[in-house]
Parts: sequence; structure tokens; C-alpha cells
Amino acid sequence: MVHRKLSLSLAVFLLALPVFGQQQSTPKQKPRVIVVGVNGMELDIIRPLLLKGQMPNLSKVIEKGAYGKLRTVSAPNCPRVYSTLFTSTDPEEHGVSGFIVGGITANTNMLKEEPVWSMLSKGGITVGMANVPATFPVMPVNGYMISGMLTRGKNCEDGVLCAPKLSEVLGGDAVYPKSMQAELLKNVGDFYIDCERMPAAADLKGHETELIDKWLGKVQLIREQQTKLFDYLLTTHPTEFTFLAQSCEDRTGHWLYPITPFNVGYNASINNVRQDAFPDQYVAFDKVLGSILKHVDENTYLIIFSDHGIKPLREFEEKDPHAHMDHEKTTPVIAKHDFADGDDVPGSFFAMGPGIKHDLRLMGLGASVYDVAPTLLHIYGIEQPKQMRGRILTEIFESSDNKVAVKK
Ligand SMILES: [Zn+2]
Repeated sequence: MVHRKLSLSLAVFLLALPVFGQQQSTPKQKPRVIVVGVNGMELDIIRPLLLKGQMPNLSKVIEKGAYGKLRTVSAPNCPRVYSTLFTSTDPEEHGVSGFIVGGITANTNMLKEEPVWSMLSKGGITVGMANVPATFPVMPVNGYMISGMLTRGKNCEDGVLCAPKLSEVLGGDAVYPKSMQAELLKNVGDFYIDCERMPAAADLKGHETELIDKWLGKVQLIREQQTKLFDYLLTTHPTEFTFLAQSCEDRTGHWLYPITPFNVGYNASINNVRQDAFPDQYVAFDKVLGSILKHVDENTYLIIFSDHGIKPLREFEEKDPHAHMDHEKTTPVIAKHDFADGDDVPGSFFAMGPGIKHDLRLMGLGASVYDVAPTLLHIYGIEQPKQMRGRILTEIFESSDNKVAVKK
């Protein structure tokens, strides 16, 4: 219900926006921000790649900006954390507490708190979003939105951890405005909206190497499609605020994390086959980042974050590697992000842009997923609404501009 109200008020607002080309009184340049979400990005895996020079683009961002760990919510999973990140409220408050809520796949109709893209749209900022988890069915924005993880469609009827093609989406709109869908099909192709589902344990048995390679091939195909989509959007539909997301990394980590024979759940026929599969995801992501960086100039803010990290199962965790709480229990899982002892694996945060400190390492767990939305509003000079629980990450800025509104 709240969602309908939010959508309606935003739709009315969007109608009132000045049409492009109309006379406006001294238009003021608004900040440009590109946010890139990488699902489950794990610093333990990334650090050696940075040292080996295999992630030159992320290295550049670190050199020019601030980075560190990002505290996450309890029992983190993608829809739960992303919805907290959008709204800066607790999962119990925003309503999207997991993949399935009350027996139904989580969707935007469940969102009970206003997301940051709606606030930015109302602030007259142009918004573009693609493949962001938990944005299906899409909501109206002052720009465009293409849904991500949890989009339902053919061969992915429940929308949980599978990949419908754009033309095969069912049960709601995957593109706003609707008219953009034909344009995307024509110019980008019929891309997969989310990452491939992991193979089932029964299918893997006896065909491990073959299925792992086939799955990794599909993951790379999806990444190439996403790169093309992102580049197309940034080129032909530039917006002041752009939010793009990647989701294949996390899924790869869950069953192909480079573990040793002493780790819980180790199975040589799976875990000794492609030891580099998970690190390779980040090497591949770095190339995606390279194509995004072409659209980032001195006046653009770039924020890269992960909703949580991922670690191998611990000795005190379930001995049964199928007993994994985050994803479908069909793939032998050897790493995860919501541990029984409450030791939830933090994500990571990277930011660069005008006025952001260079080469700053954020120590400890001072920054959290709750702080991203308030920090975004701060960049645009929009007052932080009182329901938001996070804070502005003032420590990343050279000087805090006291003209910018803070939470009252
Ligand atoms: Zn996961």
C-alpha cells in the first residue's frame, strides 16, 4: 500500500517536472554520481589481486579515493541488505527481510520505506538504474529503471537466484518507462537480467568439471551483456544519479571459493577443479569497471560497494554443506555470509570524486550499509529524512560543507 502511495506521489511529481528544452531560470549543475554494487565483494580475495596488479581499475579508484569495510545487517542476504541500503532503515522497518517474505518472493510492493532513488527523483535529480537487486517490479523514477535480482520470468518463475531474459519477464514490468524496453532489445539485445542459477547437487555428481565450466561460461556471457548494457545506458542515457549492480560474484563464491582440503565441505571433484574461478570474477569485474570509468570525469563521484563479503564455512558451522541459509539449498555450498555465531561478513566500500580524500583507508567498521543513502543525499544537498538510521560519511570528505542539510 505504501508503495502504491509512493509510486503515485512520484508519478504526480514526475508529470510536474519541466520538459527538456523548456526555459529554466539559470540551471545549476547538479552533482553526478555513479554507484556500482558488487554482490558479496570480499576484500580477502581482492587484496592479493590488487597486489598482483590484476585489478588496475579498482587500484586507481583506491589511489584517488577512500575505501574500507562496510558493516552490514544481521543475517545478511542480497534483498535484505540492498533494501536497507536504499532506505537506511532496518529490515523489519522496510519490509524486505529476505528472498522470500511471507511465502512470496520479495518485491518492491513490499517496500514500506521510501527508497533513495525516489527522494532523488523528487529532488529533480535524473535517476538511472540497472540490474539493482530487489527492484522488481520497477518503480517510476525521474529517468529509467531496469530491474535486477528477483525478477521473475520464464525458467525463473519464482525469481529466486535465476536469470530470465528481458523478453521473457513475467508478473510485472522490468523496465521503466515501458517504452524503453523495445529500445533496449534493439540496441543491447535480449540480455539476462540476473545471474545464472547454480547447478543442483544431483546434476553435478559425475559431471563436475563439465558443469562448472559450462556455468562459468554462462556467468561470463551475462557479464558481457551487462557491460554492454551499462555502456549503452551511460552513453545514450546519462543521468545525474546512476546505480548499476553485478550479482554473479557472490554466487561463484558460494560454491567455488578457493578453499583447502581442510575446510568444511571440501569436495575435491568440485573445489579442486577451478581454484581461480572466484578470484577470476573480480578480475573480470575490473574490466567492467574499466568500461564504467570511461564515463567518470573529475566532476563525477564513483561509489563502489558490496552488501556483504563471503567467507569459507567454519568448523563450528553445519557439517552439512547443503545446510546453507542464504541461497537455495541445492548446490554444495562451501562459503557464506550469515554465520550462526552472528559474525556477519562485512562488505566493502570505495568512493572517489570531488572533495573526497585521496588514498584514505577507513579503519574498523565505522561505515555501514545504513550510511550510503544519507551520504548520497548529502552529495546532492538533500536533507536526511528522520526515519533514516545511518549517518553521512563525513570522514571521507576533505571538508564538510555546512550548507548541506543534516539529520534533525
Ligand atoms: Zn550470497
